[in-house]
Amino acid sequence: MVIDMSKKFKIPRGTSDILPQESLVWQDLEKKARKILNLYNYREIRTPIFEETDLFARSMGQTSDVVQKQMLNLTSQRLDEKGHIQLSGLSLRPENTASVVRSYIENSFDKKESLSRLFYLGPMFRGERPQKGRLRQFHQIGVEAIGPGSSSPYLDAEVIALCVNMLKSFGLKKFELKINTLGTLACKNNIHDRLIGCIEPRVDRLCDDCKERYIRNVFRVLDCKKNSCKSVIKAIAFGKDWLDEESLQYYEQVKTALAELDISYTEDPSLVRGLDYYTHTVFEVSDASLGSQDALGAGGRYNHLVSQLGGPQVDAVGFAVGVERILLAKQGSDNESEEDLDLYFLAIEETCVNEIFQMAEQVRRSWKGAPESLSVGINYQVSSMKSQMRAANKARARFVAIYGLDEKRQGKIKLKNMETGAEQDIPKEEFIEKFNAAIIEPGIKE
Ligand code: AMP
Repeated sequence: MVIDMSKKFKIPRGTSDILPQESLVWQDLEKKARKILNLYNYREIRTPIFEETDLFARSMGQTSDVVQKQMLNLTSQRLDEKGHIQLSGLSLRPENTASVVRSYIENSFDKKESLSRLFYLGPMFRGERPQKGRLRQFHQIGVEAIGPGSSSPYLDAEVIALCVNMLKSFGLKKFELKINTLGTLACKNNIHDRLIGCIEPRVDRLCDDCKERYIRNVFRVLDCKKNSCKSVIKAIAFGKDWLDEESLQYYEQVKTALAELDISYTEDPSLVRGLDYYTHTVFEVSDASLGSQDALGAGGRYNHLVSQLGGPQVDAVGFAVGVERILLAKQGSDNESEEDLDLYFLAIEETCVNEIFQMAEQVRRSWKGAPESLSVGINYQVSSMKSQMRAANKARARFVAIYGLDEKRQGKIKLKNMETGAEQDIPKEEFIEKFNAAIIEPGIKE
């Protein structure tokens, strides 16, 4: 292989760097998510970012768009003369439900607890045509509630409420929740046949993709955003008689439970979700201001997936929200974090650098933890006081510790509160104690 040494590298299409300033916003979002997930008793699970391709094909369905067109497969790579790493047959995960279920089965969760409330956050990968809100690497926060004890309609309502409340905790206000039911597996098959029947006389009005979807997976036609297909969907007379008594009753119980939690929703009979594994409740949360890629998150019940993947017959319900879409929806409101740095050391003379270098480390080591974390920075570039203070401002430091020849002679460090401008000369040996007090009680007296 010839390597072009003059080549400038670029980030792969459909991916993005999360730069330090943005990553503070991500951390904030993740922190809020963890807080609310904990409130609802969900525990984190981390699965690999790649799995056997067949796992996704079997769970999402061979005919789903993701499996047909968007899987990012790994290719095998020769390691050494003794053998290969077998990467063929593996794919980057396009979603995480299948992996969580695989792990649930492999680790026999059903033998340990009757209901496993699990959550995950991390990157997912789909070979899509990139556009605003649609990436090849994107991030999801999701939950799965799986187990013999997961068959209650209250759990559907709980999961939907968790999704809505999580989005609210991120500061989102304008989103819409749509719900629907596909009923039992038998009903879902019935809906499938009815859809085929309703669309058949109008197939020629569908876009080329949907003509194919009509044959492969008719449910996916209902997700199409093209006007011609939308008008075909609008003409479908969905009826309660498409569902059996058991399914209708289950759906009523979910809706009553949602009302009891004050969760407002719109019913949309055309909401079906294009993945094979859903039965009964399906839901989607969207924000119209996002344009064509307006879905913030989606989920539903999947009572047959665990058994379909070789596990016990246990029910399950879950959802996933997309982090990038949430951030797009939030854009402009609170993109910047407040403070970056608690204490910034600067030396006025080159001969003072060694001492502040040691002092900064002592402050870090002595930190007892209130506030929770402390961030201590240091400027090794000795220059004029003015330009160093400019650097401190840019770093948005709360306090600056200044050390020059005068301070050295007096055995002191000057601590400046950047918010109030107040300064205090503190004997070196008392610095840690005084700084600790100042950061908890920020009003330093002159
Ligand atoms: P899905 O697994 O397709 O139901 O997706 C759940 C959520 O993940 C969506 O509502 C989006 O917020 C997000 N999402 C899905 N695909 C992408 C993508 N290609 N780029 C960015 N976000 C995505």
